Amino acid sequence: MNILITGGAGYIGSHTAIALANAGHKITIFDNLCNSKLTVIDQLTKILGFPVNFINGDVRNTPLVNKSLKENEIEGVIHFAGLKSVAESVANPLLYYSNNVQGSISLIEAMQQNQVKTFVFSSSATVYGEPTYLPYDEKHPTNPINPYGHSKLQVETILGDWAKSDPEVKASILRYFNPVGAHESGLIGENPNQIPNNLMPYIAKVICGSLPNLNIYGKDYGTRDGTGERDYIHVMDLAEGHLAAIDYLKNNHGSHIHNLGTGHGTTVLELIEAFQEINKVEIPYKFSGRRGGDLASYYSDANKALKELGWQARRNLEQSCKDTYHHLLISNNRAK
Ligand code: NAD
Ligand code: UDP
Repeated sequence: MNILITGGAGYIGSHTAIALANAGHKITIFDNLCNSKLTVIDQLTKILGFPVNFINGDVRNTPLVNKSLKENEIEGVIHFAGLKSVAESVANPLLYYSNNVQGSISLIEAMQQNQVKTFVFSSSATVYGEPTYLPYDEKHPTNPINPYGHSKLQVETILGDWAKSDPEVKASILRYFNPVGAHESGLIGENPNQIPNNLMPYIAKVICGSLPNLNIYGKDYGTRDGTGERDYIHVMDLAEGHLAAIDYLKNNHGSHIHNLGTGHGTTVLELIEAFQEINKVEIPYKFSGRRGGDLASYYSDANKALKELGWQARRNLEQSCKDTYHHLLISNNRAK
């Protein structure tokens, strides 16, 4: 299939590009590089062994998306492009509604103009909000607690309505849990342009000495050791989930929601321990107060994806820690 990957120069999109290309799909990456670098495209070319088709543009630029769909004879879109910082979304909600919601509408408008009706969307477990039970399954009520989460849920609603209005639409909504790790080559990984908010990239910055220590946000949650608990999923497992979703859409119209997670929770201290153990490094850390808006604990029920997509996570936390560190060593060497 000819697939447009919006946000394909970013962390999850670039890993998914590899999985798709290796499975025989023809890929075109569309990204405005607001949170990624052009070097990612060179690295993808190195990994795949052929030049990767790249368009530098903003998804809100409907005429450019329209032209890109036409010229590349696109048959399906995987939509990663968006902003993802909860704190930034609280400080600047309009930026998030513009990028994430208006960006998605613009993309769908261009798709409609080109009769492209297969769409995979990067949603997030954050749409569930405060757990009323755990693990979260797809029937758990949705009640996001910040503008980022609202923007994701609004796009989910738009996709559901689009699919209801046109029986040929095939939309897959994937609710990611916490992606970590890197491609086994170490050539691509998570490289945010600014100081990371997320735990694993923050740890990477501490290990390479760019940041002095990790701050653990809260030690008095009602979890095994008092620190926050999340469902960390290897980014290549996540990438393969998109492949499974594209396959599923071949025979399934309408909109479909699936969690992509491992089904297991890990606390901050457990993750630090696993990272230190497998990589033989020390992560200096301090406890600090809870981070505003953080939930104590959440993890997925991933059974629907197994049953319907035939997908499940295959890599464990140790592999994620190992691959994160490998990527760090390779990118530090390259920077020298
Ligand atoms: P990322 O920032 O690494 O990648 C997003 C990419 O989209 C970047 O390359 C950025 O330059 C591009 N982009 C942003 N706005 C754009 C626009 N208007 N037009 C064109 N390109 C634009 O983030 P990621 O971690 O790879 O996340 C990908 C998607 O998955 C996002 O939609 C994010 O909300 C969602 N998601 C991420 C996580 C996570 O923890 N990483 C969890 C759940 C959902
Ligand atoms: N966390 C932390 N220090 C950091 C970043 C995150 O202690 O510098 C904790 C955070 O409180 C949460 C877990 O690590 O319990 C995962 O946080 P992340 O931001 O990676 O994911 P999210 O909270 O968005 O699920």
